[in-house]
Amino acid sequence: MQFALLDKDKPHRNFFILFFFTAFFCFIGGHLRQPAELSLFWPINALLTAIFVRFPWLHRPRYYLVCYGAMVFNDTLFSGWAIPAFTINGANIVFMLVAVSMLNPRAGLINASGRVKSALSIFPACLLASVMCASWGALAQGLRFNEQLLPAWSDWFSEQFSTGVLLLPFLLTLPRRSTLLSSLGHGQRCWPVLMLGMSIGAAVIIGGGGSLSFPVPALIWCAISYPLWLTSGLTLLTGITEIILVVHGVMNIQGDDSLLPLSHLASARLGVATVAISPLIVAVSMDAIRQLNHQLTLRANHDFLTRQFSRSGLYDRLHQLERAQALRGRRASVLLIDIDHFKAINDNYGHDAGDAVLVDVAQRMQQTVDQSGLVCRFGGEEFLVLLFDLDETQLLEKAEGIRRCIMQQKFMLRGNAVAVTVSIGVASGQLAGVSVNDAFNRLVSAADKQLFISKRSGRNRTTLMPENVKPTADTLT
Ligand code: GH3
Ligand code: MG
Ligand code: MG
Repeated sequence: MQFALLDKDKPHRNFFILFFFTAFFCFIGGHLRQPAELSLFWPINALLTAIFVRFPWLHRPRYYLVCYGAMVFNDTLFSGWAIPAFTINGANIVFMLVAVSMLNPRAGLINASGRVKSALSIFPACLLASVMCASWGALAQGLRFNEQLLPAWSDWFSEQFSTGVLLLPFLLTLPRRSTLLSSLGHGQRCWPVLMLGMSIGAAVIIGGGGSLSFPVPALIWCAISYPLWLTSGLTLLTGITEIILVVHGVMNIQGDDSLLPLSHLASARLGVATVAISPLIVAVSMDAIRQLNHQLTLRANHDFLTRQFSRSGLYDRLHQLERAQALRGRRASVLLIDIDHFKAINDNYGHDAGDAVLVDVAQRMQQTVDQSGLVCRFGGEEFLVLLFDLDETQLLEKAEGIRRCIMQQKFMLRGNAVAVTVSIGVASGQLAGVSVNDAFNRLVSAADKQLFISKRSGRNRTTLMPENVKPTADTLT
């Protein structure tokens, strides 16, 4: 939901937009009125609540007054109400005030890890807001239309509660950039939606009191397969469809063909609202699990200290490249880079200074390699740089660039300018073959041999694998 139209610093524009929006949806709601004076759906309260929660700076008396003014304006103009336009619409503002006040403190959590709690707080918020709204609305309506208090109250309450519980989870979790198409793009992922449609069809055919809950398993399947906002959207659609089908007698929840009394509609609405809870709980839990998984993968794939790829992150990336067919026919080069006499840095300047050197060395490597390769902390004070499509001369240039960049600019450790050097071993080859892992590991062990030669020859130097020495016949160019 992108409401860039609303701007904190442009109150006049906000007044106009809120007035127009409220009047428009009141007009729509007014045309959904049944024989009685209450609408089949009155979505404006939930819609405005969602907007006020997503833009907390709207939670000011003047913006509520604008909405109230638009509601009164609509009823005076199109319903022909005079005084009741002022009294009955007070109920709508009561709903908004209670729901927004209860949801606002949690608004920040709705897109973060506290989603389980925040999404579930929609239920008590809707419950209390609907109780207050129904009490005000039924009293005002009873005075005006001589309605009996209890049936009027149950109609108000069931309508407000079900509309709020169906609409708010969707409106509050809807991402700014819709990913609906990509979510449904994969063929097999359409099955939960098909199953949902079939279960609604079965509910229509079979009917009876239990039919309202037929879509629950399909909705739970949706909750497991789709993101939270999409599940909330499908639950909303299912709920609205069921209520409409019940009202028009297509879905016969009484088990006979008699016309639906209003109290059955109230019961159906409450049934739909209750049914909506289970898929939402599953969707919220799945969402939390997905987020946690994502965070864990990020942590496992990146080295905490240097922020570069960890060893498992590098292998993961290699597999991604292989899946994208981005390795085929390409010459890969592995640079194994080991800091010289690093233990002495720890011993002389402390472990923290050693850590700072590791961070700085990694940064310098990253700057030198830039977008052309991957930098990985391979273990301890040993780094691996993976480069693609470089010939011998370019490769030597790159490796020497890294070595010089570390050697030339001294490191400040406890007030001392300390020179740090690295030794580098390089091996190149193709990563194609039966297993990318095996091909890569062969390159690493070939590079390790060259690194050993660099160390043995006095450190602070680069050794390239000679072109005619190949770790295996099939893996090298
Ligand atoms: P060489 O030139 O032969 O590579 O000598 P070296 O001292 O660099 O190698 P050696 O393997 O003897 O010592 C590596 C040291 O790196 C030992 C270990 O305590 C230190 N080290 C490994 N990981 C970390 C780390 O995360 N932080 C710090 N400060 N030190 C680490
Ligand atoms: Mg070392
Ligand atoms: Mg080492």
